[in-house]
Amino acid sequence: MYIRSLGIFNILVATAVMGAVNEPCVGSGGSAGVCVTTATCSASGGVTISGGCPSDASDVKCCSKASCSNGSAGNCRWTSDCAGTVVSNQCPGPSAFKCCSSAATGFGGYPTPSYPTVGTSAGACKQVSVSGAQAVVAAWPGRVRQIYCTRDCACPGTSDHCCGKAVDLMCSDAGGDATESGRQIAEWVMNNRNSLNLKYVIWGQRIWNPSVDSVLTWTSWRSMEDRGSITENHWDHVHVSFN
Ligand SMILES: [Zn+2]
Repeated sequence: MYIRSLGIFNILVATAVMGAVNEPCVGSGGSAGVCVTTATCSASGGVTISGGCPSDASDVKCCSKASCSNGSAGNCRWTSDCAGTVVSNQCPGPSAFKCCSSAATGFGGYPTPSYPTVGTSAGACKQVSVSGAQAVVAAWPGRVRQIYCTRDCACPGTSDHCCGKAVDLMCSDAGGDATESGRQIAEWVMNNRNSLNLKYVIWGQRIWNPSVDSVLTWTSWRSMEDRGSITENHWDHVHVSFN
């Protein structure tokens, strides 16, 4: 996917800058937000903050809505994060950003996931990866729905998954569904980098690598390029690579 002529790459970059529109962000007061144009936000009764969607065009800002138009006690959030019932047509952005009847955070609630099988072949999932995944699940019960480790690629390859030294910790209701749940997991991984033998962690289009980064809150992690989707921008899973 990175083999592109320079001309095509430039076009894709120009397009991609807009691509995180409709993806999550941290809104006013730390609330759940969505990156939309300021016009879209104000039309739906939301409020914007600057700097929440740094890879987007200047008129795209992080939009949140503290109370729904229908007067319910809830607010606008990603449906994967709703502990109650959701109501459509109350919130800015995509259909997955809905009015949630509960003000409570509805993260997780998943049964304990199965773990990848550890193997010794080059492409097999390694013990450090499984041990890391087990540590995360133990620290955040109910928050990881599924775990992926290996990938069909030669080791060494372009991804640590090729050598079974990375895990994708799926933490929304389905692949491709946005959630804000992964932030706490990602920051926990950073804080437990030594015991996990962490190489780097990615969440929400941001990366943290203990060999080059100091310990920071996730909003200050280095931002990554827009890869074009909720999954590719790591809004439905935490990627953890191990040494
Ligand atoms: Zn991954």
